[in-house]
Amino acid sequence: MLTDRVAIVTGASRGIGRNIAEHLATCGAKIVAVSRKADDTADLVAQIKQQGGDAISVQADVGQAGDVAKMVSSAQEAFGRIDILVNNAGITRDTLMARMKEDDWDTVLDINLKGAFLCTQAAAKVMSKQRYGRIINITSVVGQMGNIGQANYCASKGGLMGLTRSNAREYSRRNITVNAVAPGFIETDMTSELPEKVRSEMSAQIPLGRFGSPEDVAAAVAFLASDQAGYITGHELSVNGGMYM
Ligand code: NAP
Repeated sequence: MLTDRVAIVTGASRGIGRNIAEHLATCGAKIVAVSRKADDTADLVAQIKQQGGDAISVQADVGQAGDVAKMVSSAQEAFGRIDILVNNAGITRDTLMARMKEDDWDTVLDINLKGAFLCTQAAAKVMSKQRYGRIINITSVVGQMGNIGQANYCASKGGLMGLTRSNAREYSRRNITVNAVAPGFIETDMTSELPEKVRSEMSAQIPLGRFGSPEDVAAAVAFLASDQAGYITGHELSVNGGMYM
């Protein structure tokens, strides 16, 4: 249970992030739902409140230091502490390396990797004073394996795992654990536009024979966010149906 724990979830407007926010709320956490437009998380906040939980919407671009500072101060003003940070916000700008524009590289790295750096640095300051924290970074199976057409995305996710391990070492003395969850192919907007042929080829590579659901990822995040996971840090937990092991 996460009763009265305060959790910031970035990229909570849809897909995996929204599911993580819903799941942590059902475990008792108070939710700070972050996306680039506060309106996009308004229905999530209403839903959590209707179910007896507590949540706020915060507008922040995780790649902007000023927005991230505001995100942390909004969480503190609303709930007085920050126990859990889920660095979930992420984007793709897929194209072959030979055609990749500098802007494709910078934009993906700014959101997926620098965003996690900024959010972690700001939230960990609060967690350090509390001597308690759980930070969970959402990486990806393709950060582990590499993927054609995703050099920028894979580099951002591989880099995020380096950040995870370094932060796990640095913040351990403050009783803050830092872990990652590496989803495989999950049914969200990010994967919905794949042609049917590509989807069936991908499913054939997955021992469990199907794409995962956002709930599969949320359950792994909830475990790493719990008190029971207090002796796990620097770990990358794969939720990929066995496609990479
Ligand atoms: P999604 O459906 O495209 O949702 C992405 C979320 O990130 C949205 O809520 C989006 O909010 C938010 N976001 C994007 N840029 C942001 C920014 N600069 N600041 C704040 N929020 C921002 O993606 P998803 O499939 O749920 O993926 C979630 C995470 O899982 C990502 O890190 C992704 O890399 C990772 N992942 C996904 C899969 C998969 O198969 N789907 C597999 C492995 C890893 P707005 O656009 O509304 O602002």
